Amino acid sequence: MSAGVWSRYGISLLAVLAAIQIVVGCGGKEIVKVGIESNFRPFTYTEGGENKGFEIELWQEIAKKANIKYELVPMKSSELTKAIKSGEVELAIAGMTVNKARKENFAFSDPYFQTGLVILTASDNKEIKGKDDLDRKVIATKLGSTAYIYASGIQGIKEVRGYPDISEAYNQLINKSVDAVIFDERNVHDFQQNTGKGKVKIVGEVLNKESYAVVADKKSKYIGRINQAIAAVAKDGTYETLYAKWFGGQPAKLPGQ
Ligand code: GLN
Repeated sequence: MSAGVWSRYGISLLAVLAAIQIVVGCGGKEIVKVGIESNFRPFTYTEGGENKGFEIELWQEIAKKANIKYELVPMKSSELTKAIKSGEVELAIAGMTVNKARKENFAFSDPYFQTGLVILTASDNKEIKGKDDLDRKVIATKLGSTAYIYASGIQGIKEVRGYPDISEAYNQLINKSVDAVIFDERNVHDFQQNTGKGKVKIVGEVLNKESYAVVADKKSKYIGRINQAIAAVAKDGTYETLYAKWFGGQPAKLPGQ
């Protein structure tokens, strides 16, 4: 072929090659939008413009194994399910507890974290020692959370105040506007050890057995691959390394156990 032919067809040939690459690359190259929470320490949070947390790092490993290219989209947890429904994001990893009602509307991966809810009260509160002492008490928590549903079901409770951001619920407790906060165990621990240090205490037992999973639109094609990747990170030690880094020690259960 002469140089003249190349230059004549060169541009269209490149265009065709580029088009082939786009078609062939589909699947591997598609960028999946993944919703995360901007204030759910130590799982997913935004600090200094950076997304951080156990789930951010766990997801990075899952996505690598599942060959998913992604972009993280931080938002409030109350917006996550709406964003999945509207198609703004396809998946979310944000301490989402699996429950029956949610399963009717969304697809969930296999669980990757076992946890529960705890009660947090002021350090100097002498009355509240556990769930049985919440009669006629005012509780703060996050709107739309499993803790909100749980707290609303406690017999004799005076009022449950829900806030879109959990920091607001913690502020209410610090200001003594509410008697206690009920929320996800690890997030409460984090608050107690940091911002709330010396001002608050966790009382009673872990209340509700919950597990976190990746949530997706029911039409999402990624759940199978994500489940395989969760099993793989549990098997090759990645999960334990991340767990030790963020929580210290060993997980009581590995995903899949
Ligand atoms: N685990 C709780 C739920 O799923 C809270 C999640 C969160 O605030 N990110 O409702």
